[in-house]
Amino acid sequence: MAEIAVSLQNINKSFGSLQVLRNFTLDVREGEFVSLLGPSGCGKTTVLRIIAGFEQPEEGTVLINGKDVSKIPPEKRNIGLVFQNYALFPNMNVWRNIAFPMIIARKPRSEIERKIKQLLSMVKLEEKGHRYIWQLSGGERQRVALARALAREPKVLLLDEPLSALDAKIREELRLEIRRIQRELGITTIYVSHDQEEVLAISDRVVVMQNGVIQQVGSPSEIYFMPKTRFVANFVGNINLLEGEVVAGNIFLWQGRKLILNERVSVVTGEKALLAVRPERISICKDKKEVPAGVNVIEGQVQLTTFLGSQVRIILTIDNGIELKVDLPSQLGTDFFPGERVTAFFPPDVATLITD
Ligand code: ATP
Repeated sequence: MAEIAVSLQNINKSFGSLQVLRNFTLDVREGEFVSLLGPSGCGKTTVLRIIAGFEQPEEGTVLINGKDVSKIPPEKRNIGLVFQNYALFPNMNVWRNIAFPMIIARKPRSEIERKIKQLLSMVKLEEKGHRYIWQLSGGERQRVALARALAREPKVLLLDEPLSALDAKIREELRLEIRRIQRELGITTIYVSHDQEEVLAISDRVVVMQNGVIQQVGSPSEIYFMPKTRFVANFVGNINLLEGEVVAGNIFLWQGRKLILNERVSVVTGEKALLAVRPERISICKDKKEVPAGVNVIEGQVQLTTFLGSQVRIILTIDNGIELKVDLPSQLGTDFFPGERVTAFFPPDVATLITD
């Protein structure tokens, strides 16, 4: 097991009467890529600023490589930072921007030269060292910002929405680059974003936050397929949340139907709960005879189909006007039309019970 690189223990932080972080506790292992995901204002940036030393928590401890850093100023914490708005010097060229932290640290010229060459190659800007910042695209600027953050070989890299000012295509390209560089260097990285797709794509683990409280920590697939709270389920991707009640054993009563729960869940009989199931985990067919054994079955009527390229989203109406979303691969989904009666089904183990 890797060592803990950054440990936040019971952090409480307020601005005036607004409590921004509550009992925030998180360990990030060495070499790990952990993302903080949550809506605007939930405290993500504040966590990074506390790690970097720009903010002091009222309570709690920050350890970097096992050492309490409360008395260590930001510049001595050995942390690299990249923000959304570049924070580069526009009137200096790329080379000088990257050199800047090393010049401040009085590194010898030969070492600076060698390091910059290596960094420019890493961020794929070998040819652009002499360009001024104002002559670069947004994506190129963020590459420079990343190279500059890595110039002093920090132990920890903090990235705060580094891609949010960029176009979708560049964003996707650059997030792969960031991940590649992070893996290559094995650098512990904490990444902040409110873009769930980006975070699922890039992280080893994701921390979902709401109002300064951690809702769930898990791998991208755990967060996506096994959300623990209604908030996580709703915040990350599309999902069906069936409101019902656990009855005897592993049966979930929903709209008068008995659905079978995954036998691994420990259920409390009589408890109100939500059964969460992703639209792409549900199948539909026109003929009931095609339904395999042992699955949960829900009959409904196709209300709307939307072609999304690789998938077709089908909205089914169940009785009482309740809707069920189903995503089918497009080659299957284009066979269904509004008004048709269909049978939807899913195996018990693709649904998660939420009892918060
Ligand atoms: P965003 O995604 O919009 O950047 P965030 O999750 O990063 O949001 P923070 O920037 O950590 O959120 O801010 C959390 C809350 O604390 C917000 O309500 C913000 O207005 C408030 N806040 C942050 N910094 C300060 C400050 N220096 N003084 C007063 N309030 C602050």
